[in-house]
Amino acid sequence: MKNTKLMIAAERKYVVEKEKFVPVSEYYGEDTFSNKIMKEKLPKEAYKKMMEAINEAKTIDSATADIVACAMKEWALEKGATHFAHWFQPMTGTTAEKHDAFIEPTGVGEVMEKFSGKQLVQGEPDASSFPSGGIRATFEARGYTAWDMSSPAFIRRNGISTTLCIPTAFISFTGEALDKKTPLLRSTKALNKSALNMLKLLGAKNVKKVFANLGPEQEYFLIDRDHFFKRQDLVLGGRAIVGAPPAKGQELEDQYFGSIKERISSYMHDVEEELFKLAVPAKTRHNEVAPCQFEIAPVYEEANLAVDHNHIVMDTLKAVSKKHHLALLLHEKPFAGINGSGKHVNWSLADNNGNNLLNPGKTPHDNIQFLVFLIAVIRAVYKNADILRASVATYANDHRLGANEAPPAIISIFLGDQLTGILSNIEKGIVSKATNAEIIDLGISSLPLVSKDNTDRNRTSPFAFTGNKFEFRAVGSSQSISFPATVINTIVAESLDYLAEKIKAKGGNINQTVFEILKKEIKEIKPILFNGDNYTKEWEMEAEKRGLPNYKTTPVALKALVTDKALNLFEKYQVLSKVELKSRHLIYLEKYIKDLEIEVKCLNNICMNQVIPAATIYQKTLAGAVNKTKDALGSSVVLSSQVEILKKIVDLINKIYNANKEILAKVDAVHSVHDEQRKAEMLCSKVKTAMNELRNYIDELESLMDDEVWPMPKFWEMLFIN
Ligand code: ADP
Ligand code: MG
Repeated sequence: MKNTKLMIAAERKYVVEKEKFVPVSEYYGEDTFSNKIMKEKLPKEAYKKMMEAINEAKTIDSATADIVACAMKEWALEKGATHFAHWFQPMTGTTAEKHDAFIEPTGVGEVMEKFSGKQLVQGEPDASSFPSGGIRATFEARGYTAWDMSSPAFIRRNGISTTLCIPTAFISFTGEALDKKTPLLRSTKALNKSALNMLKLLGAKNVKKVFANLGPEQEYFLIDRDHFFKRQDLVLGGRAIVGAPPAKGQELEDQYFGSIKERISSYMHDVEEELFKLAVPAKTRHNEVAPCQFEIAPVYEEANLAVDHNHIVMDTLKAVSKKHHLALLLHEKPFAGINGSGKHVNWSLADNNGNNLLNPGKTPHDNIQFLVFLIAVIRAVYKNADILRASVATYANDHRLGANEAPPAIISIFLGDQLTGILSNIEKGIVSKATNAEIIDLGISSLPLVSKDNTDRNRTSPFAFTGNKFEFRAVGSSQSISFPATVINTIVAESLDYLAEKIKAKGGNINQTVFEILKKEIKEIKPILFNGDNYTKEWEMEAEKRGLPNYKTTPVALKALVTDKALNLFEKYQVLSKVELKSRHLIYLEKYIKDLEIEVKCLNNICMNQVIPAATIYQKTLAGAVNKTKDALGSSVVLSSQVEILKKIVDLINKIYNANKEILAKVDAVHSVHDEQRKAEMLCSKVKTAMNELRNYIDELESLMDDEVWPMPKFWEMLFIN
């Protein structure tokens, strides 16, 4: 039977014309108010002050702010901007912006374009429209946005509208962080302080600044837009909450290695062009494992910039998808049974001289330094695995973590055989032997030799060392990388301080002292090291024996944010006060509850408005066919197959109706619970399992029904017609 409703996407042609190709270097960054533009547009003195402010995290005086604002406005007007917006990252969602026109009335019926230093430096969006996790109840409702000079202002085009976007931090009247940027900037400061202190102790010279670099590898799905709009689950929640697995999934592994399809290549090209204009260094693009799944990875940048840029990447992927009649799915698990999407966050530490502190160096001194920083990170993860897990806990990511395609909920570290060997030798007090030319001498007899090149891979590890950086692989594709990075920065700062204290207290020959201290530390923290397959049941059992936390669901995982350990740690490092951290805990719980409830309502609609009506039509067709055939051929005719299908359909309609009703009743019962933690836990344990059961009935029905009456695009259509 020709399946008419499926042919639309396959037959339509998507040709995107290009007039002429311009080398990227000619337009890279043209839509950002970059240092280069500032040098061009600002008076010498103002430019100098801006550079100082950016490089030394200082503020600028109001006269300079006025000069910069004026230049910025002139530049933005040239670009066609009519409005400016303070661009910020509220605690849920991706980014927010409130637009204001540049106009100022100068008389009756007359205006001029104006933009003052005050408007540039500070904004006042209505804080009550954004979640505050209780902060608002205890403090002033007003919120302020404050210009973040370290991230350049940029031009955003949307249809025919053009806006100057100014990256800002969002804080309450009394200074509480209401966003994701403020804690990240604070953690950067804490990390810098602790790392500099450690470097000084180890005798490093001429280092003025240490900072984290981030390289987020963004995975995403693209499906045809026609299919997308026929599925309310995708439109409302980003995930197909029902749908039987297709006959072909990813088992042939032909997607990853195949060439990128023309329509997708054109899309990627357009995305990159937009990103290049905004100085986002989009470097790598490729197919991913699942059909319709892709990845984009930029060159790593300083953490704050990398976070802003990842938000821009997510926005741009979405905006450009419309032009190609595609729909972007950033959800962590849009299709059950098929790989989900993550965002591997590559994290490393660099100094102002361009050295990567996680790179084994050329001299004995560099290698001792490398080992200290390496152990500090390992210790940080060992001591705070629960907080790291909480930093990636969302309703959506629960579908992915531990689904045998993504790391499990157990946080462990992969180091590779060589480094593991070196650490285990340090623990035993043995010096490792050089095995090849790449291995460097540490210069003293009791310290081991470290290889420069250590690139073994373990794709199953949630936190892997890959040569000169750590790759945090449990992060979800749709989430902001800001909080995970904030957590890593803070826990590493704490571990560096801890080790520095030990080193200071022991005194003596620094190399010998470091060796003795690391030796003791390794013994304690080694349970976090695991080079094997993280997807196995054996590892789960082994991890339990080692005492590693395994929080499988978000409500349980989020508790780690409100332990005394976490509250004290974030307060001590002035990253988040207790009030601020508790507000995050509450907001993340509320988000979990809302996400789950949206799916419940959506599932109800799908059952009552789509699946049951469609099944009833098919039931009627079958029943009619059975009766009419009997009429025509007499009651002795064999109709056992049709009758069997009919019975199954009737049975499934009943099961679907009842299961759905039960779910609604369960959700209703939970509504009387006012403690958000308990509410989330109850919804998770009672409702989620029931939703899976209901899904199974619907998927079974789908496999029995006539394609022509099934009310929404199926997995194979969405995944393979594009
Ligand atoms: P793979 O998929 O093999 O892990 P990719 O090339 O897709 O590698 O992505 C690696 C990411 O890691 C890129 O975003 C890259 O810029 C980033 N990266 C490389 N070196 C560092 C570093 N020192 N610190 C942080 N990120 C880094
Ligand atoms: Mg990659």
